[in-house]
Amino acid sequence: MSTKSYGDAVLGGREAIPEMLKLFSRYGVRATWATVGLLFARTRKEMLGYIPDVLPQYSNTSLSNYKAIRDEIGENEKEDPYHFGRSLLDLVAETPGQEIATHTFAHYYCLEDGQTLDAFRADIQSAQAIAKSAGHHLRSIVFPRNQYSTSHVGICVEEGITAFRGQPDAFAYRSMANRKVTPIVRGLRLLDSIIPVVSRKDLVKPEYCVGARDVRASRFLRPYRSSWPAYSRLHLNRVRSEMRVAAKQGQQYHLWWHPHNFGRNTRESLVQLESILAEYARLNTSLGMESVTMLQAAHERPSAGGEFC
Ligand SMILES: [Zn+2]
Repeated sequence: MSTKSYGDAVLGGREAIPEMLKLFSRYGVRATWATVGLLFARTRKEMLGYIPDVLPQYSNTSLSNYKAIRDEIGENEKEDPYHFGRSLLDLVAETPGQEIATHTFAHYYCLEDGQTLDAFRADIQSAQAIAKSAGHHLRSIVFPRNQYSTSHVGICVEEGITAFRGQPDAFAYRSMANRKVTPIVRGLRLLDSIIPVVSRKDLVKPEYCVGARDVRASRFLRPYRSSWPAYSRLHLNRVRSEMRVAAKQGQQYHLWWHPHNFGRNTRESLVQLESILAEYARLNTSLGMESVTMLQAAHERPSAGGEFC
């Protein structure tokens, strides 16, 4: 996606982040912010200084962000708010209860042709190094496009990361290369976000995977669609009803989205989010549901344990 086609959503996402943080504070919600390492940089020089020695050689060269880093990126956040975001990252870090996690250094794709485990390790080491320069130690990861394998998780553990967001246990949600995410898979996911069509065991406690805990995703919160208001209403109802089931069963419910999803229809999406947080507050009072970060979910709560992946 280019700045031209998606730049307005990125800028809208920047406006939405402080509003999300205010809502999280108001409702006592803890969240994990998986951030690409590039966004820790304050200047172009700093960003270039952390580029790993071993880069992924994707068969599809358009997947690599490195050409764009060298050709398109401005000098700093003031000049180029599309590619820098340290002020927002600092705002998140200063807000109580929020966890800064990683989304790899340069949006690394673990299951695309041409990537190697060496390149992945180099990427994660760069992510840890630039985070350290900002006073953070990354302990949780969300893999770009939810692509990962046991080997990638193992490398994360060796690099100090012990919690990851896995995918729901069902064919339509399995971790896969982008070419396998067919229109049928997308359609199933879209439908499943309003009615139960995909059978899965996603209301589970974190499980082990080669030394890390899988804090499995439950549901992607779809942004409000002004062209499909009825769809958005049904989706919201589905999320809230899944939260109630999880709370009754004492299970985790892991809702996720990207800040730029709130970049268009921002006000409506924030209203949608607040109604979810209000549901959480009710469940917190009535059933003891507790909001935790990924790291807390992985390591502070009881788990069935055992290897699964
Ligand atoms: Zn991403």
